[in-house]
Amino acid sequence: MKAWQKLGLGVIDIVEGGAMDECRKRRSGLDRSQPDRLNAGMSGHQDTDYMALAFAQAELAANRDEVPIGAVLVDSATGRVLATDHNRVEEWQDPTAHAEILVIRRAALALGTKRLPAADLYVTLEPCPMCATAIAFARLRRVVYAASDPKGGGVEHGPRIFTQPTCHHRPEIFGGLETERSAEMLRRFFRTKRRFPPS
Ligand code: ZN
Repeated sequence: MKAWQKLGLGVIDIVEGGAMDECRKRRSGLDRSQPDRLNAGMSGHQDTDYMALAFAQAELAANRDEVPIGAVLVDSATGRVLATDHNRVEEWQDPTAHAEILVIRRAALALGTKRLPAADLYVTLEPCPMCATAIAFARLRRVVYAASDPKGGGVEHGPRIFTQPTCHHRPEIFGGLETERSAEMLRRFFRTKRRFPPS
């Protein structure tokens, strides 16, 4: 668990009115302290179990020539898996078909609600700015990701979406669970791509 990092606050922030300044202050900088707990809910399942499901999705993506990123959305109260999916950008020729967006859409549709405040997201790579914004809109409770993405990430890199004053919800964020596995999967994928470029 050494690589495990907790980023930011340990609480859900819904920023409103006068709370804004205090939240901005508390949000500045990333607190990389150790996590105080690893369980997502009362189910007895560990974060690593759910991340394993996300990796299984990432493998599916790789086998279908998609960038290997997988995501799982879990109901933190019951431990029930609400949705699993992987990148489908190539399959659908849809630039927004990222794994995180797809699980949010599936769960929201299934539950008939646009907000999922009890849901925890497990994803194999740091979410991009688009997905981070969708995560804030969906009011997810918690985001756990594997590898950081210095080139395309939007949580601890780039625009750091959850620190922006225009972002009205900040989930609890943990990064660095099984970083190497995710990074290796992506490296392998792009190595193969270079060897066999699309015709
Ligand atoms: Zn994304």
